[in-house]
Amino acid sequence: MSGLFGIVSSKDCRQSLFYGTDYHSHLGTKKAGLAVLNRQFTRCIHDISTSQFKSKFIEELPKLKGKKGIGVISDFDSQPIIISCSFGKFAIATSGLLRNKNELARKIMSGGGSFSEMSSGMINATEVIGKLIAKKNNITDGIKYTFSQIIGSMSILILTKEGIYAARDITGKTTLVVGQNEDTFAITSETCAFPNMNLKPVLELQPGEIALVSREGIRRDQSNLKNGKICAFLWIYTGYPASSYEGISVEKVRENCGVNLAKNDRIQADLVTGVPDSGTAHALGYSMASGIPYRRPLVKYTDGYGRSYTPASQGIRNKVAKLKLIPIKSVIEGKKIVVCDDSIVRGTQLKNQAIEKLWKNGAEEIHIRIACPPLMYPCPYLLSTRTKKELAARRMIKKIMGEKNFDIKDFLNEKSSLYKKMVETIKDELGVTSLKYQTIDEMVKAIGLPEEKLCLYCWNGKD
Ligand code: SF4
Repeated sequence: MSGLFGIVSSKDCRQSLFYGTDYHSHLGTKKAGLAVLNRQFTRCIHDISTSQFKSKFIEELPKLKGKKGIGVISDFDSQPIIISCSFGKFAIATSGLLRNKNELARKIMSGGGSFSEMSSGMINATEVIGKLIAKKNNITDGIKYTFSQIIGSMSILILTKEGIYAARDITGKTTLVVGQNEDTFAITSETCAFPNMNLKPVLELQPGEIALVSREGIRRDQSNLKNGKICAFLWIYTGYPASSYEGISVEKVRENCGVNLAKNDRIQADLVTGVPDSGTAHALGYSMASGIPYRRPLVKYTDGYGRSYTPASQGIRNKVAKLKLIPIKSVIEGKKIVVCDDSIVRGTQLKNQAIEKLWKNGAEEIHIRIACPPLMYPCPYLLSTRTKKELAARRMIKKIMGEKNFDIKDFLNEKSSLYKKMVETIKDELGVTSLKYQTIDEMVKAIGLPEEKLCLYCWNGKD
């Protein structure tokens, strides 16, 4: 994924830009960049796969003087990109997944265009978006044209001399929120960036909306609005607990998920816990509703690793992930334990990092409770890393059905015998006492938005 932050202030903005962007570190582990506009554009980009955003950018701050700027943390390409075109110069950063990138790039090249930001060896999606925008006579028309051309999802920040243009993804998967204090406007993917900067959220853009945010205020263009669907997974896993989307708190939704899981459960357990960090609030909700005490049989050691530490090889990544969670035997031994987690993607991390450690340290029973239904489809909008065959549910379906023909719908209905068989098979593979997933209806209820306003593609495959 990626996270965006922009700021327009009456005073030098570099510190606020730096900390505001850093509050998006949970959304990306590969690249980060900042751009400010003083008399000229100044930009810096770093690889953050082996060290945190802060340590890479702190030394850049003296040169990033300016009253407006944009920042991005990303799992993909280097950005922001600076583009010069017929209507001037701009810096652009994007968040989303451009599925027809190569096709759009080919069209641009066949019209005589070229691409320069090839540091990853591939065409840079943000450069493609910038070049599409530059085809029109101004930023607003350029963004509208771009939204008509892209497949996938894309929220955009563009730094210009008039201010920052913010455009929310036309499919609504990600969001952008504008905040304000006495001398500053800011735009963010994650509202957790606001409270400690004394910024109050004043506007959440609609899907397809474009806003020019400047010292003079906010100028909105709603001529291109669409009925978007926001990513439900933001609340379940990817978003930060202290953020809100559509005015709905992530932490509160996670607690609601835990409450719902507990309401439908009859487990006699000694303690409930969450797989740190993303399972914690789900488990707190479970504890509140069940009366089973919340305890910490596993604690996370982050000092020295940092959130963004991503070693290059998968083998070392697994090892680091395993080293981070430390079991506390005196809390585990002889106990019946409910473990809440946000989701099961492959299942290997849950098994290796939590379940094995609990058994090894003398757990008597382990009951896994998952805050969303089984993941059935890889995300085509935001997360490019998964494939269908990696998903635990799909692997178990293959195990159950072999080469037989089947209708996937039979595995989506939680009342069907095939669904139950699939969950039982995942339970056996994890090696736990019991396993339950939240239903899609309960998850939607926990979020509190109408179903038609939520992207649920991960679970039901419906656009
Ligand atoms: S497919 Fe899943 S992760 Fe992707 S936008 Fe939809 S709900 Fe979110």
